[in-house]
Amino acid sequence: MLRLAADSGRVDVLVVGGGIAGLQAALDLADQGLKVLICEQQASIGGHMIELSKVFPTLDCASCITTPKMSAAAHHPNIEILTSTVVDGIEPLHAGHRVRVTRRPTYVNNDKCIGCRLCEYACDTECVDPFDASLGATRAIAVPFTNAIPQKAVLNPDACGTCGTCARVCPTGAIEFDQQPETLEIEAGAVVLASGFALNAMTVKPQYNAARSRNIISALTMERLLAPHGPYGRVLRPSDGKIPGSIAFVQCAGSRDASIGVPYCSRVCCMYAIKQAMLLSGALPIADITIYFMDIRAFGKGYESFYQNAKAMGINFVRGKVARIVPAEDGDLLLHVERTEEGIGAIEPVRHDLVVLAQGMIPEWHAEACTPVHPGPDGFVAASSLTSPTATSVPGIFVAGAAAGPKDIVDTIAEAGAAAMQVTRWLRQEQQRPVEALV
Ligand SMILES: Cc1cc2nc3c(=O)[nH]c(=O)nc-3n(C[C@H](O)[C@H](O)[C@H](O)COP(=O)(O)OP(=O)(O)OC[C@H]3O[C@@H](n4cnc5c(N)ncnc54)[C@H](O)[C@@H]3O)c2cc1C
Repeated sequence: MLRLAADSGRVDVLVVGGGIAGLQAALDLADQGLKVLICEQQASIGGHMIELSKVFPTLDCASCITTPKMSAAAHHPNIEILTSTVVDGIEPLHAGHRVRVTRRPTYVNNDKCIGCRLCEYACDTECVDPFDASLGATRAIAVPFTNAIPQKAVLNPDACGTCGTCARVCPTGAIEFDQQPETLEIEAGAVVLASGFALNAMTVKPQYNAARSRNIISALTMERLLAPHGPYGRVLRPSDGKIPGSIAFVQCAGSRDASIGVPYCSRVCCMYAIKQAMLLSGALPIADITIYFMDIRAFGKGYESFYQNAKAMGINFVRGKVARIVPAEDGDLLLHVERTEEGIGAIEPVRHDLVVLAQGMIPEWHAEACTPVHPGPDGFVAASSLTSPTATSVPGIFVAGAAAGPKDIVDTIAEAGAAAMQVTRWLRQEQQRPVEALV
């Protein structure tokens, strides 16, 4: 898989991140005949979208949409993918950019691994499965998840007891316990930053006591609980396996609050909470589901009717602010809610079995630390102007998707296509530049 980049050391376009933005930009560029390299820090491409259960507003199965894109990129003759590869520096040159990447050891030779999983079946060391929000178990050596691309095993050095069983059963001799991190320098004509988002810490608001209860979960954990192949196969409470009868969503639990450094709106939380509430009411028909919100921001096409449908299904929408969450001894949670529609000061405690916090979306990668692109006031990569939303402050470096700010999948894909078009135009202009202008 390393051939294209390592042989020539040069690609037309390097895409940072193999989430849906990076995959779409890469496919659009490769279809135009450009050689594209995707560098993804995780062991599989797919980004956050491959972790989702279903997607608003259509309620399509997320992996049914993401997997074909992942597969199309993996099989495209003009695309090369390096997984477990972190981009950690981009230096603009007179023509193009020098990109420094670090390949993390996976202790498995990807050229030799055939994805047979014999190592995984033979390994008897269990560890938590990060793909399933650490609720399920996996083996110390395993393919990251069922539809991971590439289908290559990865060894977890923190869990591995180095018993050597995997090496003995591997039919191709792919296990390499002595792998070390490797740094590569790649020249790219242009770069697309598609490094996406992270969620701020569950503990960012100490008054919610997330560190004290396993039943206060993140929205990404709820996505895994709702996924057909999730950790339990159904929605259960993490602390004791109880079927939850009363579930609360706490909105703006890490956004729209200057005191925690996230004054902006994370944009997708209202919609994913409504989606999860609808899916829960299907999975647990007799459960009470309440969404505590400041305002509902149903900004996209079809989103308002999605919200109205949720109300018609009997989901409780309570306008108010959750001031505090107190874990009870039986695992339940007491929410102290200030109901703003009934006047400030009306704080009432409400008991729920399970609480989902809508954390804030923050940049996954601070590109400005490794390259001269300017961040915006929210810390995400800034666009060079309102009329060029995918161009950055550095010519030849473009941005797409959640790397530029919180956004939904529809806007992410549209932006990735726009970035690909801008890259193509920029590379053509560069080819036409007189040689003396390059020196
Ligand atoms: C709980 C939840 C539910 C959601 N549900 C929906 C929904 O139903 N519908 C909808 O429209 N949207 C939904 N969203 C939003 C959706 O997840 C985003 O729109 C989408 O994932 C953005 O894609 P992306 O490729 O820009 O970023 P990401 O998915 O974050 O992908 C970025 C990729 O870049 C990689 N990367 C980052 N830095 C580096 C680096 N330095 N080197 C190499 N690789 C790097 C990351 O590992 C990652 O794989 C939801 C979000 C959340 C949090």
